[in-house]
Amino acid sequence: MAKIAIDAGHGKHTPGKRCMKKLDKHETREWVLNDRVADELGRLLKSAGHTVKRMDDTDGSTDVSLESRVRKANAWGADFYISVHHNSGVGGSSGGGTEVYVSKGCQAKSKKAQSAIYKHAIKRAGLKGNRADGTRTANFYVIRYTDMPACLIECGFMDSKVDIKYILDPAWSKKIALGIAEGICEVFCGTVKGTGSGNSTPKPEPAKPVPAQPAKKDKLDVDGSWGKDCTRKSQKVLKTTIDGIVSNQPPSNKKYLPNAYTGSWEFTNNCKGGSALIKAVQKLVGAKVDGWCGKATVKAMQKWLKAKGLYAGNIDGSMGPATVKAWQRYINSRL
Ligand SMILES: [Zn+2]
Repeated sequence: MAKIAIDAGHGKHTPGKRCMKKLDKHETREWVLNDRVADELGRLLKSAGHTVKRMDDTDGSTDVSLESRVRKANAWGADFYISVHHNSGVGGSSGGGTEVYVSKGCQAKSKKAQSAIYKHAIKRAGLKGNRADGTRTANFYVIRYTDMPACLIECGFMDSKVDIKYILDPAWSKKIALGIAEGICEVFCGTVKGTGSGNSTPKPEPAKPVPAQPAKKDKLDVDGSWGKDCTRKSQKVLKTTIDGIVSNQPPSNKKYLPNAYTGSWEFTNNCKGGSALIKAVQKLVGAKVDGWCGKATVKAMQKWLKAKGLYAGNIDGSMGPATVKAWQRYINSRL
């Protein structure tokens, strides 16, 4: 069996790498999509008997440099390197599709893996490129400088009105992961368990939800994204004006709020007074009450949620998906 290095491209704070706002109001980060596929791919390859290691930061908080990713894979002595990405460059049109890359002058096994991965990915996920060819050559760093055979897959385009519907669907991410795993197994042996269904067991959440279950429609989706519904229901629970907007937040705090979405969070230089909802949150979690959600407030929220058994992540002051999910669980327990 083989040692497979898996790399989810970028980090969740990498500027610019996200879905086109016009097509996805949440502007979902590329790393989030890459991670979803990489995660499932790792699980499937393990089930097929391979050893897998992630080359990126699986929490997404650090965008590990390309040099370190490659160094790590070379030092580990991986047999194959697969880098998972989502593409852009079609400017909101209907173009796009799945593409698998090798580097110029690559090893023969890279090419073998490229065609196998492309073939199976298309078979499972169906997002055939409408460009000339889904198997392409480019000297991307991670496939050029790795010692072992290597491919990079661009699962779909984040600025394609056709692709966006697919790539945002978690069930589709699993399908393409299954295709990639089957392609790798075709070249590096092994059989993916559960082949055929394409719907495998999702990774368990770090902390289990506590809530009682009243009418389902009143509940918030525990999806890790703080959008309008999350704001509205937080406002309902904390008894502030319900308008769906966390207003008056200083733009400099954006970096602590990777999963707070434009439209639901108002970042403005004219942020005097902050937000009534944030003040209520700060009161609740024992943070300084100033109405601005920054690092200290997020840390206090994380500590408070952890004490309630709703959060199992780091107290790092960054409101990533795990923190938002924990908050959503809390809100649901009060709705
Ligand atoms: Zn990318």
